[in-house]
Amino acid sequence: MDMRCPYCNSTDSRVTDSRPDTEDAIIRRRRVCNQCGAKFTTVERVQMRDLMVRKNSGKLEAFDREKLRRSIKLACRNRDVGDEQIEKLVTSIHRRLETETADDTVTSAMVGQMVSDSLLNLDPIAFVRFVSVYRKFSRISDFKKILAQIPEDNDDANVCKLPKTSLF
Ligand SMILES: [Zn+2]
Repeated sequence: MDMRCPYCNSTDSRVTDSRPDTEDAIIRRRRVCNQCGAKFTTVERVQMRDLMVRKNSGKLEAFDREKLRRSIKLACRNRDVGDEQIEKLVTSIHRRLETETADDTVTSAMVGQMVSDSLLNLDPIAFVRFVSVYRKFSRISDFKKILAQIPEDNDDANVCKLPKTSLF
């Protein structure tokens, strides 16, 4: 993290105000350069724990925040879900995974369940898309089963306002 003064390049600055943004996992610090007196703001990302994901096959791999973001973004494509919302979702899932594991290992089923639950609240279409990929749907009946589980409340006109073509 570069704390250099953007005006004189000095590394000597002091913090005048610190604002943690817990939802985004970042901390904004207002600084004053001790060399030239310029004021600037730095944004620091809060370091999160490195988690391991146990796949269904039993194989372990490092939790990949970018991969999670990409799969959620893909599910939300052409939907009314902004990058900021996706980032918040990724952070909240990351935090919940950290909270629910004692040994820094989670299962891919846990990850999938958390993403599914969050997406169902955010956008049911994105939910169906995500689940169909995550659970490797191969039949129309797979979709019928999952659609049957979605509460009717989620099936309102506001949520499903996109043209039909966006689904294909
Ligand atoms: Zn300076």
